[in-house]
Amino acid sequence: MFLLREGIAPVILEQEPFPRFHIGESLTGESAQVLRRLGLENEMAKREYPIKHGVKVYGTNATNSWYVKVSSRDENWKLYDNITWQVRRSDFDDMMQKEAVNRGATLRRGQAVQALMRDGGGLRGVLVRWPDGTIEEIEAKVTLDCSGQATFLANQKVTGPKYMGSYDKQVAFFSHVKGAIRDSGTSGENAKDNTLILYHHKFHWAWFIPVDSETVSIGLVTPRADFLEKKQTPEEFFRHDLFTINPELNRRIPALDLAEKVHVVPNYSYQVRGFCGKGFICLGDSHRFIDPIFSFGVTVTLREAELAAPLIRQYLEGKIRETENPFREHQIACEKGIDNLEDMIDLFWEQPFAFATFVHSRYPEEMTDAFAGRIYESEHQPSPAIHAFRKMLKRTRSYDQDDYSIPIGSRYHPERAALWEPNSPVETTEKWMGAR
Ligand SMILES: Cc1cc2nc3c(=O)[nH]c(=O)nc-3n(C[C@H](O)[C@H](O)[C@H](O)COP(=O)(O)OP(=O)(O)OC[C@H]3O[C@@H](n4cnc5c(N)ncnc54)[C@H](O)[C@@H]3O)c2cc1C
Repeated sequence: MFLLREGIAPVILEQEPFPRFHIGESLTGESAQVLRRLGLENEMAKREYPIKHGVKVYGTNATNSWYVKVSSRDENWKLYDNITWQVRRSDFDDMMQKEAVNRGATLRRGQAVQALMRDGGGLRGVLVRWPDGTIEEIEAKVTLDCSGQATFLANQKVTGPKYMGSYDKQVAFFSHVKGAIRDSGTSGENAKDNTLILYHHKFHWAWFIPVDSETVSIGLVTPRADFLEKKQTPEEFFRHDLFTINPELNRRIPALDLAEKVHVVPNYSYQVRGFCGKGFICLGDSHRFIDPIFSFGVTVTLREAELAAPLIRQYLEGKIRETENPFREHQIACEKGIDNLEDMIDLFWEQPFAFATFVHSRYPEEMTDAFAGRIYESEHQPSPAIHAFRKMLKRTRSYDQDDYSIPIGSRYHPERAALWEPNSPVETTEKWMGAR
């Protein structure tokens, strides 16, 4: 949709028929602002998506909690309260896809199976397998990799290496539950459709996200070892762990009525370096995903799309020089933004009490900005709060020519990284998982 605004009519290649289940249901304040800029506010209201006023985090045993409201900034950078939405992704993604087509995009059902390289370097398109099994080359002046966790161009080694994070030692289990007890307020901390995060201990937590008037998305994130030790199926594990993870979640689910199968996502934490180049840009999960804890995934994807669209127009008009990486500035701006998130999330895991103090009293405005997804330089980032986190984590960030954003978060896992170096014998996530 942002490309169409720039006068570019894209071809969308999608392997799956929509609607289809997908995870990523809680939006931030800035996701909502992007949707408003796309003129979709009325459509969101019409679909009656649950309204999110903020996120409430319950500590171990639910003895303490803290709350961050959804906010926006006006043109004078003045903070004001706002709302965003919780979305059932099957419906939301279908709406977004149809909207793009209605505005002029061409949708083709098919799977990209191979990257096509230009003789002089750079990407010239992809080889596609259509549903009837035939294969065809599609040439493109610019290819956007929006393949999510499939990280298509990274697997094809068009990008730099893909580094796995040590949070790949966690596994997420999730489903939809009917009849869960919500709060009863209409706004603020006790609004009925807010996101709840329920902390158990480090790297072990649950989410509670209403997706319609009857159904709540419940997810459990747990260290992989805990799951393997119990020798249960994912559903058995989910049904049991749900009631032991935090008493507040137990209270809110008097009887378990599953409305969706139990889905599982392991190994979701990684970073792809060199994710932009001649003829290509990776967006969203196709180049980096840290941790689902504060619901930043969709925001980052939407915002990167908005940032990339005008650059793609300039590139097509020949206004950006055809260097080794014509989109290098964009790449660094995106990495800086996600680095800010990574430092915030790492501090939450490493020092949860200090983090809560920062939210409450030391940097309430800066933290409200970060939670809303205002993460870029033009949004006064890194803020004093992020600088303070870096100090506490004993971390510095450098963005020198070839040395930007070395993965250093608490998720970074040097032994795993080696598997993604250019000469590694392990080439795909699937192979890597098999090799384990
Ligand atoms: C456990 C968990 C919980 C999460 N919770 C939240 C949350 O509450 N809020 C939030 O904002 N984010 C959340 N996220 C993150 C969110 O799911 C993602 O960040 C977001 O969906 C990324 O969007 P995307 O467009 O990059 O990729 P996706 O939404 O994954 O879309 C990728 C698309 O590419 C298609 N595709 C892939 N490969 C090919 C190919 N070769 N050819 C053609 N098509 C292809 C796929 O079919 C898919 O439709 C969560 C993530 C996890 C793991």
